[in-house]
Amino acid sequence: MADHQYVFYGMIIDTPDPLTLRIRKQHVCVVNKGKIKIIEPYAGRNLEEYQNFMFIRLSESQFICPGFVDLHCHAPQYRQAGSATEVPLLEWLRKFTFPNEARCSDLSYARDLYTKLVSRLLRNGTTTAQYFATIHLEATKILANICQEKGQRAYIGKVCADQNSPDFYIETTDEGVRNTEEFINYVHHMQKGRDVAGTNALIHSVITPRFIPTCSINLLSQLGQLAKKYDVHVQSHIAETADQVAFVHYLYPSIGDGRDVAIFRETGLLTNKAVFAHGVYLAENEVDEMVTCGSALASCPVANFLFSKGVTAIEHFTRRGLNVGLGTDIGGAYSSNMLPVV
Ligand SMILES: [Zn+2]
Repeated sequence: MADHQYVFYGMIIDTPDPLTLRIRKQHVCVVNKGKIKIIEPYAGRNLEEYQNFMFIRLSESQFICPGFVDLHCHAPQYRQAGSATEVPLLEWLRKFTFPNEARCSDLSYARDLYTKLVSRLLRNGTTTAQYFATIHLEATKILANICQEKGQRAYIGKVCADQNSPDFYIETTDEGVRNTEEFINYVHHMQKGRDVAGTNALIHSVITPRFIPTCSINLLSQLGQLAKKYDVHVQSHIAETADQVAFVHYLYPSIGDGRDVAIFRETGLLTNKAVFAHGVYLAENEVDEMVTCGSALASCPVANFLFSKGVTAIEHFTRRGLNVGLGTDIGGAYSSNMLPVV
C-alpha cells in the first residue's frame, strides 16, 4: 500500500450549503497523500488506476463527513465535563470551575490535560476548535504547542479576568493585557512570520475576556485596543444566563444600559472577528447590532439546556443574518463530541 492512499466505499455526508444536508450512499472517496481526489458514485466506476490504494469498505452504520468545528470549548474544564451542573452558573464557576482551572498553573498538569483533550477531540473528528485556556500564559502556550504538534486547527485565547474572581485565580489589569499581547506575539512567531490572522495558519490567537463580570471596563477597553492593533479574533460569553445578565447590569448600569452587546461595542470588542458564546438572552436589536458589526455566535445547546434554562433561537437569528456555529462548551456540557451537539 502506498502511504496515505485510500479508496473508501460507503456513505458520505456533508452540507454543501448551510441549509442542505447531503447524504450520498454507495459512493467512493479516493484519498491521495492526504487529499481528497474524487467523490463519485461507485456504480460503473473503474477503479483500476487505484489498485495500489488501500480499499476500505465502510459498514452500514459508518459514514465519512468533513471535520467538525467546535466553536466554544474550555480546554481546562475537560476533566470536569458535565459535572456539578445542577447549581446556577455563577455558583458553578466559584465552587468548581475556578479551582479546577487554577490547577493549570502547574504546567505538567496542564500539559497532561491538554494532550488528552486534543487527542480526544481529534479522535471525535473535531479538526478545528476554538478554545478558552486559563489566565496562565505559559499553560496557554502549551495548549497552542500541542494543537500544532497534533495538527488540529485551533483558535486559542488566554483567559482574562481582573475582578470578581477568587484570590487564587485572578490577574491584574496590566497582567491581563501584557500576557494577552505576549501570547499574540508567541502565536505569530509559531506561524514563522506569517500574518498572525492569516487564514492558512494552523494556530490563531484569540483575545479572550472570560465574560463581562470578571473584567473591568479598563481591561475590556485595552483588550479592544489590542484587537484593533493586531487584527486578531475575539471571543467571550454573551447573554448566557439570567443571573449573569442581571449581574452585568448591576456592575455597569450606565454603560450601554448595562447590556453585554453594548459594553462589548463600547470597548471595541464587537468586531467582525468576534465569536460570542450562547446569546440565549439577546434582544432583537442586539442581534441586529451583532449582524451590523459582523460578529458571530457560538450556540452550545447542551450547556444551554443545563445552565441557561433556555435555547438559542438559531433559526430566527440566522434569518436575521447572524452567523451561528455550534460548540460543545465543555465542561458546561457532558461530552466533548460534536455529534450530540449537532
Ligand atoms: Zn463557555
